[in-house]
Amino acid sequence: MSGLGKGIFASSLAKLMQDKGLTVAPMKMEGYLNIDSGTLNPYRHGEVFVLEDGLETDMDLGTYERILNQNLNRKNFITAGQIYTEILERERRGGYLGRDVQMIPHVTGAVKMKIRELAMSGPKGQQVDVVFVEVGGTAGDYENSFYIEALRELAFEEGDGSTCFVALTYIIEPAILGEQKSKAAQLGMKRLMEAGIQPHIIACRAKNPVTTKVMQKISMFSNVPSKRVFSLHDRESIYVIPDAMRSAGLDREILSILGLHDRVDARAEDIARTTWNSFARRLAAPRDHHIVIGIPGKYAALRDAYASIEKAIEHCAVELGAQIDARWLDTSDVASPEKTAQLLEGCDAVIVPGGFGTRGIEGKIHCVEYARTHRIPFLGICLGFQMAVIEHARNVLGLKTANSTEFDTKSAYPVISELPDQKRIEGIMGGTMRLGSQDVAITPSTLASFLFGGAKVVRERFRHRYEVDPVFIDRLEVGGMIFSGRHPNHPIMQVLELPISVHPYFIGAQFHPELVSRPLSPQPMFMGLVAAAIAQREPAFAQTPAGLRWVRSASTSPTAASRS
Ligand code: GLN
Repeated sequence: MSGLGKGIFASSLAKLMQDKGLTVAPMKMEGYLNIDSGTLNPYRHGEVFVLEDGLETDMDLGTYERILNQNLNRKNFITAGQIYTEILERERRGGYLGRDVQMIPHVTGAVKMKIRELAMSGPKGQQVDVVFVEVGGTAGDYENSFYIEALRELAFEEGDGSTCFVALTYIIEPAILGEQKSKAAQLGMKRLMEAGIQPHIIACRAKNPVTTKVMQKISMFSNVPSKRVFSLHDRESIYVIPDAMRSAGLDREILSILGLHDRVDARAEDIARTTWNSFARRLAAPRDHHIVIGIPGKYAALRDAYASIEKAIEHCAVELGAQIDARWLDTSDVASPEKTAQLLEGCDAVIVPGGFGTRGIEGKIHCVEYARTHRIPFLGICLGFQMAVIEHARNVLGLKTANSTEFDTKSAYPVISELPDQKRIEGIMGGTMRLGSQDVAITPSTLASFLFGGAKVVRERFRHRYEVDPVFIDRLEVGGMIFSGRHPNHPIMQVLELPISVHPYFIGAQFHPELVSRPLSPQPMFMGLVAAAIAQREPAFAQTPAGLRWVRSASTSPTAASRS
C-alpha cells in the first residue's frame, strides 16, 4: 500500500551503495496511465516534484534527490502512460513491421530498454554501478504487473549476480491482539513469487521492531535467510534509517548478492557516514531557538502536498539549531484584516507557498499585507511571489483592482499575466507551463545577492504559467519593490524583495526554492527567512557566526546605504 515509506526505504538503500563510492541511478516506475505527475491532484498524490529538465514527477523523486544529494532527470522516472505512448506511436509509424504488438515482448521490452539505457547513463557515458528500480504499487496490482514481469525477464537475461530483488512488506499489529502477525506479509510474498520473483532481501515495515519469531516465519515461508530479513520499524527520524540498515548488515548482503565488494571505497564511506550521522545527531539534539512559521496554503489539510517545503524548513532548522513549528493555515475564509491578524498571531515568519486556482487567494494577499506592514519575515514562493506583487500594487501603489489574469481576466491592472510572447522566447507554446531549471541573474548589493553569497547567477527550478507583466515593472520599482533576480536576457522577474530600510526580510521567488534544498545544503532563501525570524526574537543571534552569515542588517546592506 502507498504511504508505507517505500521511497524512503529505497532511497536509503541507494544511499548505502552510494556512500561506498558506487555510482547509483534510481528509477521510479509508476503504474498509472498519466504521462507525468503534472496533472495529479496534490490532495491524492502529494506534491508534484519538478526535475531540472522540467519533468513533473512523483514526490518520491524529491526524496531520492535529497537523500542522494543528486539531481535526477526524465530517465529516472517512467509511467505506464509514457511506455504505452511510445509503443503506440511506434506502431503508427509502422515500427513493428507487421507484427502484432503485445505486452510481452514489446511492452516488457520497452521497460527493459529503459533500465539498460539508465545503466549506461553514468558520468562520461559509462555504466553506473547500480541501477536502483522502485516499482510503485503492490505485488498483484494490474497496473504494475508488466513492470514486475519485465524485471523477472531482465534478471533472467542478465544472469545470476546481476539483480537483487528487495521486497518491502507490512507487518500488521492488530490492537485487539497486541502482537505482530505475519500472515498478510506471507501472502504478499507468495504473490510476488507467483510472478516468478524470488526476493533476495525482505524489509518488514512495522510500527514496532519486528520480533524474531515473525522474522523467522517470513524467512521460512519465502526462502530468504533470516540475516536478509530486516525490521524497518518506525524511528525517530528517517535519517537514521541508512545507518540502521548498515548495522543490520544489509549493505554487505547486497554487495555479496551483486558481487560488488571489490568496488567499495572504504574511505569514502567513512566520510559519507560521518557527515550524514552528524546531521542525524544534530537533528535529534535539543534546539537553542524556537520559532513559528505560518504557512497559508490551499492544501493545508494534507501536508504531503507541500513535502519539499517541510523538508526545506527542516534542513534550515538543523543547520541553525532551531525548533521550528510550521503552522499550516487555511485561508479559504480569511476575508478581512482582522481575521488575518488572528490567523497569523504568534507567527515569527510567513511563507506563502505556490498554488493554482482562486480559492484562498484574497486571504493570502491579506497575509502578505500583514507580514509586510508588521515587519514579519516573509518568503513568497511562485504564487506567493505573485501575491506579493499584487499586494504591493494594490496597497502601496494604490491600484486597488490589481490582480493576476489567472483570477481576473478583466482587471484594469493585470500586474501578473500570461505572456505568450515570452513563452515563445523560451521555446514553449502559450498555455503550457514554464518548467524546470533556469538561470536567474542576481542583482549585486541586494538581499538576494547577500543570501546567495554574491553569486551573479543561480539556477533554480520553475513551474508556472503567469508572471510579472513587464509593463508594470518600472511602476512597481518606483513604489519600492526591488526585482533582484531576473531572466538573464528577457524581462522575466524571478526574485523580488523590499529594501532593509522598509522591512527586515521580505523576499519572493517566481521559482520553487524548496525543490533544491538538501539536508547538508539548505536553500539560502529559507535560511535567510529562519535566521531573520530568530534574530527578531533574539537580537544577539545576529552577532553569532550563523547570524553574521544569514542575517542581513542595515550595516551589512549596501542597498540601504546606496539608496538613501
Ligand atoms: N498559478 C501560478 C502560475 O501558474 C503559480 C504557480 C505555482 O505557484 N506553482 O503562474
